[in-house]
This record gives sequence, C-alpha cells and structure tokens, in this order.
Amino acid sequence: MNKIYAMTGGATGIGAALKDSLRQRGDQVIVVDIKNADIIADLSTTKGRNCAIEGIEERAPDGLDGFIPCAGLGPNVKPHSLIDKVNYFSAIELIEGLKNLVRLKQGAIVAVSSNSTTLPGLNEEHLQILASGDEEAACQLIEQMDGHNAYAGSKRALAEWMRQKAPAYMAEGVRLNAVAPGMTRTPMTDKVLDDETYGQAMRDFSQSIPYGEMATPDMIADAILFLLDPASRFVCGIMLFVDGGQDALLRPNTF
Ligand code: NAD
Repeated sequence: MNKIYAMTGGATGIGAALKDSLRQRGDQVIVVDIKNADIIADLSTTKGRNCAIEGIEERAPDGLDGFIPCAGLGPNVKPHSLIDKVNYFSAIELIEGLKNLVRLKQGAIVAVSSNSTTLPGLNEEHLQILASGDEEAACQLIEQMDGHNAYAGSKRALAEWMRQKAPAYMAEGVRLNAVAPGMTRTPMTDKVLDDETYGQAMRDFSQSIPYGEMATPDMIADAILFLLDPASRFVCGIMLFVDGGQDALLRPNTF
C-alpha cells in the first residue's frame, strides 16, 4: 500500500533526492521548504514552523508513515543565528509537533545530522544552551562563533536530542533515528566550497574520505529510506554515519 510522508528541505540536494525516490515508488510526500514546495514556509521563524505543522496536519489528517526534517543551512550562512534556528530549533519543533501524526501510523522519523558532529573543539556552552531550549540565548552566542563550529554544534545538539528522546518515542511506537551524512555534492556544499573563508577547510576534509570522493545526494537518501522502512523496525536512536568511511577513519575506537 502506498505511504504518506512529510519532509522539510525537499527543494534541492539530499531532500530533493529523497522526495524523488519516494514519489517514484508511488508514495505521497508533503514537502515544506522556503521555495518550490507544497507548503512554503520559512522555518527560521515561529510563524513558518506553525504554518508547516498546520499545513501537514491538514494534508495528512489520518497520520504519517514518516517525517524527515531535512532543511538545513551550511557554515557559510550569515547571520549564524539562522543556522541554530533552521538546523536545530525548527527540526526539533517540527518533530515534536508532528509526533502524534506519526504515532497514528506507527511510523518513523529520521533527523538529518552530520558527520561534522564528532570533530573536536565544539563549544560546550553552545551545546548546553541548545539543550536548554533557549533559542534567543543560543542565537546570541552563535554570532560569536566561527561557521564550522556553529554548524557542527547545531547538528551535534540535534543528534543528542534525538538520542535522548528516542526511547520514549519508541515506547509510543515511533522510531526516531538520524543520519550523519559526510560531504555530499549539493547546492549547500557548492556554496561552502566557493566561500573564501570556509572553502579550504572543506576541500581538505574531503581529501580524507576513504571512498575517494564526496557522496551524491541519492546515497544519503537511500540510507534515509532504510531508516523509514520496516526493514529497520528494530533500529532506534542510532546515528547512521553515511560518510564513505570517514568516521571509522577518524574515530576507529569509538562507535
Ligand atoms: P541544500 O541547500 O541543497 O538543501 C537544503 C534545503 O533546505 C533547501 O531545499 C533549502 O531551500 C531548505 N531551507 C534552507 N533554509 C530554509 C528555511 N529557512 N526554511 C525552509 N527551508 C529552508 O543542502 P543539502 O546539502 O541537501 O542539505 C540537506 C541536509 O543535509 C541539511 O540539513 C544539511 O545540513 C545536511 N547535511 C548536508 C551535508 C552535505 O555535505 N551536503 C553533510 C551533512 C549534513
């Protein structure tokens, strides 16, 4: 039977690849994005987040088989506060807001984190403020941070939030997991690679991918499809690294 999913960030990149795969197999996908979507919403704002949740509730009153908050902004984006707003706060607000719809169909939620989350030197104060849920304080602090640290912090906090919530979600029949993509060729990556401040570090990081090159968006979408599928029905609370072996290379004794 065909399924119904909701996702954010389906206009380009990884989200667009996921949307295409789901639609090609006949599933219905409700896409929220700031452009080119079923529901146009700016997820950096409270108004946009509410509009997204209400729009999805209207279109899927009987529940969702899955939800994928994929919208995100890279380390080059200014002001940096947008990184926390979109990558962390909008993701967790929409997951919480849509959990009951996913529970109706005993579905799955897949957050989109990053393999940058394990890099040393993350700002602990930033992580603590994000975990406390104080959006205003987080947005003030992140303005003083460099972009890589800001981005990795927003994705680390998202992964930790996912791990903390997953058992209680599972007890209600909702599987909550995350993917941790490595470098993937998308419009976001292209913008960072072209950036004078952040491009070189990205190029250096890409040199160490054991696979030999960056992922294509469909490689990440395939991993998300697995986490949405009943084939992964006993998988809960995991960070699935999809990074061509980079995490194993950098952290061989940690998993
Ligand atoms: P992308 O820029 O192609 O896609 C991001 C999507 O988010 C776009 O469709 C964009 O319109 C949407 N978006 C941005 N700001 C928004 C806002 N305020 N409101 C609503 N929608 C908004 O980038 P991508 O690389 O496909 O990124 C997808 C996800 O994967 C992001 O969460 C990103 O952080 C994560 N990720 C990407 C990589 C990579 O190397 N590309 C690596 C790790 C994680």
